[in-house]
Amino acid sequence: MDIKFVEREVLKEKPKSNFGFGKYYTDYMFMLDYTEGKGFHDGRIVPFGDITINPSMMVLHYAQETFEGLKAYRTKDNEILLFRPEMNAKRMMKSNKRMCMPQIPVEDFVQAVNDLVNIERDWVPSEEDTSLYIRPFMYADEFGVGVRPSKTYKFMIILSPVGNYYPEGVNPVKIYVEDEYVRATEGGTGFAKCGGNYAGSLAAQVKAEKLGYTQVLWLDGTHRKYIEEVGTMNVMFLIDNEIYTAPIDGTVLPGVTRDSIIHILKDWGYKVNEVHLDINELMKAAKEGRLQEGFGTGTAAVISPIGELNYKGEIITLNDFKTGELTQKLYDTLTGIQWGKIEDKYNWTHVVK
Ligand SMILES: *Cc1c(COP(=O)(O)O)cnc(C)c1O
Repeated sequence: MDIKFVEREVLKEKPKSNFGFGKYYTDYMFMLDYTEGKGFHDGRIVPFGDITINPSMMVLHYAQETFEGLKAYRTKDNEILLFRPEMNAKRMMKSNKRMCMPQIPVEDFVQAVNDLVNIERDWVPSEEDTSLYIRPFMYADEFGVGVRPSKTYKFMIILSPVGNYYPEGVNPVKIYVEDEYVRATEGGTGFAKCGGNYAGSLAAQVKAEKLGYTQVLWLDGTHRKYIEEVGTMNVMFLIDNEIYTAPIDGTVLPGVTRDSIIHILKDWGYKVNEVHLDINELMKAAKEGRLQEGFGTGTAAVISPIGELNYKGEIITLNDFKTGELTQKLYDTLTGIQWGKIEDKYNWTHVVK
């Protein structure tokens, strides 16, 4: 893919610390157009800035939009690493297929991410636990309010230096088990990383926050009892020394972090049960002292230990509200590979050049 570079005259001042999450954006962004009959065209890296939007642009009305999220990490030798970027590329193809959107080839996706990050490598922060968050997204930009797939799209990538997702660091969070709202149902868009899924999830998030909880635990849309995900993360539980997590069969987002953690756990000899776990079974295991640890997995927060669960007013505490031993070891191992601190025997890292 040919990528044109449009240089900006004045570079921004880079923040030194307190990055937050999505507060700052870099000097450049990537753009690629798609036109039916012509395919993808006009790949370019241009100064980061506003885009003009016609009020009838389809994405604004019917939410034909998908996105991805990954990070670039700086090693102590000042190499810049990506973590399994082809997994994000493949997932975006699947999301786009579901949303009747064109599928950007895996190698073009990875090239676009690599080339933009390479130009912006000075923006990858070096402090402990910081990284450059990469947000690729695609949206329907045809004009018109008729309901049908758009004939034109834009694929873009923006970059933001970030600190820890939770300012307080890796600490257990309180989770509210949502039994009124649902995130996904069979045949729906649960497996696709699309903006619409998030719009629909906000009401539950707001409700949980009002009650003093950080995130919600989603139950399945049909029976309202099988555990699916936690907020924007996949979720795993350690019960009787075995791991339980929801299978990837349509309603759960296939997380790159989830997949990586499962690889590591199996390598360590853990039995990983990818099954529909009934919330009542989980509550029972907790009461019988068999529920040892629980944690969410996702690119943004990496691993987020669960300290408390509230299901229909019944509250259980996990591991005395402390980060579990296995949870911590997984966090250290995965972030160790991502920041190039420990050997990457899985060949997951991609050196940006
Ligand atoms: C992105 C996302 C995840 C985590 O996926 P990663 O690839 O591990 O970042 C989990 N659940 C939902 C709903 C998501 O959107």
